[in-house]
Amino acid sequence: MREPVTAYIALGANLGDAPAAVKAALQALDALPQTRVLARSSLYRTAPVDAQGPDFINAVAAVATRLTAQALLQSLQQLELSAGRERPSRNAPRTLDLDLLLFGAAHIDSPALTVPHPRMAQRAFVLVPLAEIAPGLVSAQQLAAVAGQRITRDG
Ligand code: ATP
Ligand code: CA
Ligand code: CA
Repeated sequence: MREPVTAYIALGANLGDAPAAVKAALQALDALPQTRVLARSSLYRTAPVDAQGPDFINAVAAVATRLTAQALLQSLQQLELSAGRERPSRNAPRTLDLDLLLFGAAHIDSPALTVPHPRMAQRAFVLVPLAEIAPGLVSAQQLAAVAGQRITRDG
């Protein structure tokens, strides 16, 4: 059997009861086959970046999983669908967005999956919660580079 890999997942929602959607998604991650949540950040409130609509609620979770990266992505997309996500356009407001940030030390560049997530370093809503649960993965320089983006802890 495959050894478990530690993966990091970014959660975001800005429609409906966004904190409830993110909390439910954290529980659903723990319930995925061959996967358990090792750590979860606080919830954060952030202004939309290149997107419309209300503030986002964001968080990052670390999971240990024996799924492949592709299977994990499929599970994440399934969870987005069960949360009622539609994809009218890129960056549209959404009930739930689950992005695979890191999958162990893997570098993946396929049409459906790029890991590490190519835009994670530009986003305070990813770096700040990631630094909370995995300080060794985020440098002070990276945090300084996104310090202009509004982000507040929301419980
Ligand atoms: P962004 O990726 O900039 O955060 P987004 O989350 O709004 O944008 P989506 O519409 O959710 O983008 O996803 C578009 C496609 O991105 C998905 O169909 C998926 O196949 C692909 N994708 C590539 N790499 C990843 C990844 N690391 N995590 C999640 N989806 C990914
Ligand atoms: Ca995203
Ligand atoms: Ca996404």
